[in-house]
Amino acid sequence: MGIQRILIANRGEIALRIHRAAHEMGIQTVAVHSTADADAMHVRLADHAVCIGPPAARDSYLNVAAIISAAEITGADAIHPGYGFLSENARFAEIVEAHGLIWIGPKPEHIRTMGDKVEAKRTAGALGLPLVPGSDGAIADPAEAAIIAAEIGYPVIIKAASGGGGRGMKVCEGPGSLATLMAQAGSEAKAAFGDATVYLEKYLGNPRHIEFQVFGDGKGTAIHLGERDCSLQRRHQKVLEEAPSPVITPAERDRMGGIVASAMADMAYRGAGTIEFLWENGEFYFIEMNTRLQVEHPVTEAITGVDLVREQIRIADGKPLSVRQADIEFKGHAIECRINAEDPFDFTPSPGLIEAYHAAGGMHVRVDSGLYAGYRVPPYYDSMIAKLIVYGRTREGCIMRLRRALQEMVIGGIKTSIPLHQALLKEPDFLSGDYTIKWLEEWLAQRD
Ligand code: ADP
Repeated sequence: MGIQRILIANRGEIALRIHRAAHEMGIQTVAVHSTADADAMHVRLADHAVCIGPPAARDSYLNVAAIISAAEITGADAIHPGYGFLSENARFAEIVEAHGLIWIGPKPEHIRTMGDKVEAKRTAGALGLPLVPGSDGAIADPAEAAIIAAEIGYPVIIKAASGGGGRGMKVCEGPGSLATLMAQAGSEAKAAFGDATVYLEKYLGNPRHIEFQVFGDGKGTAIHLGERDCSLQRRHQKVLEEAPSPVITPAERDRMGGIVASAMADMAYRGAGTIEFLWENGEFYFIEMNTRLQVEHPVTEAITGVDLVREQIRIADGKPLSVRQADIEFKGHAIECRINAEDPFDFTPSPGLIEAYHAAGGMHVRVDSGLYAGYRVPPYYDSMIAKLIVYGRTREGCIMRLRRALQEMVIGGIKTSIPLHQALLKEPDFLSGDYTIKWLEEWLAQRD
C-alpha cells in the first residue's frame, strides 16, 4: 500500500514544498499549525489541518505530544519534519517510529551521531573524509589545548560540540588568550546548548563553504548529487546559494562526490543528507553533516532534475533510489536568493501585512513561498518568506535571468531583502565567482 497520508511537521515554504511533492505522488497531507498560522497557505492547501498550539514554537512546532496526537487523530501514516524545528531531533524520530509512524528522515542513530560535532568529525574521519586539522575529540584542559594549538599552528578556532547557528565559536590568534577564550566558549556553549564540551580546529583564513548533497537507501547504496556553493553568508547564515560552485571542476566533483557517496554507503545512511566542507586552496575540509533536507536543495534539483522530496518519501516508504549515480548529469547553472522579511541592508526584521504580491515567472524561474496578498507575516518565526530559484544554461545566463526575475517580484507592504540581492548581482566579485565566506560581511561593512 505504501504511504497514504503525510503529516508535515513544519510551516512556511517548506511545508508547501512537501505538500506539493506528496500530492504529485497521490499522497494526502495533514498540516499542523500554531494559532498565529491559521491563515497560512500550507494550512489552506493541505487535505487536513490541526491546530497544535499557541504562536511560540516551543508550544506548537516543537510540541511533540501535540504533533503525535495530530497524526493519530487524522490517520496520518508518516511524518515529514522539513528543516529546522524537530528535523534533527533523534528523540523525536524515535518517538515517531515508536508510534508506528514512518519517519521521513535518516535513522535516529545517524541523526544523533552527526548532531554531536565531535562524534561527527570522528565518524567522518573514520569514513575517509578529509578533516580540518585539530584536536582528536573534546578537550577539557587548557594545557592540552596549548600543545595541540602549537602543533596545528595559530590561529585556531574553539568550537562547541553541541554547537549550531554559529554559536559557541571563538577564534584564538595566539597562546596568550587560549585559556581565557576556551573558558568563554565553554560557558557560552553551556548556556546555549546545556553542554560545555569544546574542541579545537585550525582556523582557515579565507575559505569557501561548499557542501555535497547525498542520498542513501538505508541498505548500503548511496549517491551524490554534486555540490552547492554557499559562501555568501552573513553571521554564518546563508544568503544566496549556487550550483555548481564556480571553483569546482567536473573531475573534482566526481572525485569528492565519490568519496562522500561511498562514506554514506559504508554507514548505510538513509534519506537526504548534506556534507559541509570548507574549501581553501583546492583542499576540502569536513566541518559538519546535516541529516535533513536543506533550504537550498532546489538549486540541486534544478541542475540534476531530481525531485529531492519525492526521493525522501520513496526511500522512507522502503523503495529503492529512483536514480543511479550513472544516471545523474549536471546540466547548466542555478542560483537561489533567500528573500527575508527584513531591511535589506541593516537586517532589522520587517514582519506585517503583505499589501501586494506578484511572483516572478517565465522559463526556468521557480518561487517557493507561502505568501499571498492580504497575508500577514507573523513576527514569531524565521524571517525567510520566499525563495527565488533561477536556472540558466550558463552562469552568465542564469544571472541575467535572475536580475529579470528579481525585478518582476512584487512584495508590497513590508521590507524585503530583494534590494540586497539586486545589489549583489552588480558586484564584479560576485560576477566573476571570486568570493569567500568573508566577502559579504566585508562588503556590507564598506557600505556603512
Ligand atoms: P554551526 O553548526 O554553528 O553552523 P559550523 O561548524 O557549520 O557551525 O561552522 C559555521 C561557519 O563557521 C562555517 O560556515 C564557517 O563560516 C565558520 N567556520 C567553522 N569552522 C571554521 C574553521 N575551522 N575555520 C574558519 N571558519 C570556520
